Amino acid sequence: MLEFDDAQQQLAQGAAAPTRSTRVPLYQAAGLVLATDLTAALDLPPGDNSAMDGYALRYEDYAAAGATPRLPVQQIVYAGQEPAAQVPGQLTRLFTGSLMPAGADTVIMQEDTRSGGDKAGGLVELLAEPKPGQHVRRRGEDVAAGQPLLSAGTRLDAAHIALLASQGLAEVTVHPAVRVGILTTGDELVAPGAPRSNHQIYNSNGVMLATLVNGMGGRATHVLHARDDEASLQDALRTLTDECDLVLSVGGVSVGDKDLVKPALESLGGTLALWKVRMKPGKPVAMAHVNGKPVVCLPGNPVSAYAVFTVLVTPLLRRMQGRTELFPQVSFLTLRTPKPRHDAREEFLRVRRVVNPGSVGELEVFDRQSSGVMSSLPWATGLARIPAGVPIYDGEKVAYYDFRHWQA
Ligand code: AMP
Ligand code: MG
Repeated sequence: MLEFDDAQQQLAQGAAAPTRSTRVPLYQAAGLVLATDLTAALDLPPGDNSAMDGYALRYEDYAAAGATPRLPVQQIVYAGQEPAAQVPGQLTRLFTGSLMPAGADTVIMQEDTRSGGDKAGGLVELLAEPKPGQHVRRRGEDVAAGQPLLSAGTRLDAAHIALLASQGLAEVTVHPAVRVGILTTGDELVAPGAPRSNHQIYNSNGVMLATLVNGMGGRATHVLHARDDEASLQDALRTLTDECDLVLSVGGVSVGDKDLVKPALESLGGTLALWKVRMKPGKPVAMAHVNGKPVVCLPGNPVSAYAVFTVLVTPLLRRMQGRTELFPQVSFLTLRTPKPRHDAREEFLRVRRVVNPGSVGELEVFDRQSSGVMSSLPWATGLARIPAGVPIYDGEKVAYYDFRHWQA
């Protein structure tokens, strides 16, 4: 039996990081991984501008204006307009995002003024003493040109993409999406939407794994199904290892008569490492290389496949995507369990994180932990790890693998 942590490390080494890169429009970049370090080319904001609706002035003119300062409006500047230089002793009417006129250094917000009319020449009374430089967003204070912007290996989401757009970029250099082929196996399975006889069940792993892969920024390009015979498995595996970068097969890999994925891989020239990983749910997990492509074999049970994909397979996918962070964060949270938890294998319980006022969160355990209970999956927010052979009692802290991090 292989320990869970060793299996996770070995799987993560199952393929090399990508070398190819391609340019894509920002609109198509979500989920893809930055292939180069990027440096800011532009100061952000590109010029000093106002953080408020109000009036710009030279701070020294306020001090010189006496006890009830009233100053005339020199000009009105809307966001997007180019101001004239500030005339000493006058105000510039401006708005959030308006460029500061050269010479002005301070903004008084309009709530602190009484206006004699918003037009050039109108007199405005200043009701509160400003601090020098207040309400001005300085050129480059957010991002300065020349400073590191984003590093290679970052998976791009809306926040990164917005930052790139703010630099004026319309495209970005990324690694191409990893093409993932999924192979479901089993004579008992029918596709959702098709009629079903009594002895059949619907195939849930195909669409489940495709959804998980796509959610991570991979691309599930193929979802094939093979019957439990070697020829059918070989055919499908040949296609997938030809046309994809990574293959995930599911089911047919334990020790039953119909578990023919292993011989099918071997007949295609794959040398297969089959591990009984000391984990629950899970256990049979295998990896082979066929045609230079990694093939990972997951247990057929949907709950097991979901858990094994999440904690064992995602580091490998992240590595193939070119990401720098392969192992997302694990937090330590209090387990709430009516009975002690104890198993000879490392157990991953389906749990739900609940945050009560004043606490960082506690983990509630789904009451039915049998690996056949698929209804636990939408309920759960993550997996709690119970160490092999160590009983865990109510109130103890355990490692928590949050799906939001581990399936991203
Ligand atoms: P196996 O590893 O092929 O023996 O599968 C283990 C269990 O998971 C069996 O009860 C299968 O019917 C079930 N199973 C396998 N593949 C799927 C699938 N794609 N969708 C739903 N259940 C599956
Ligand atoms: Mg099967």
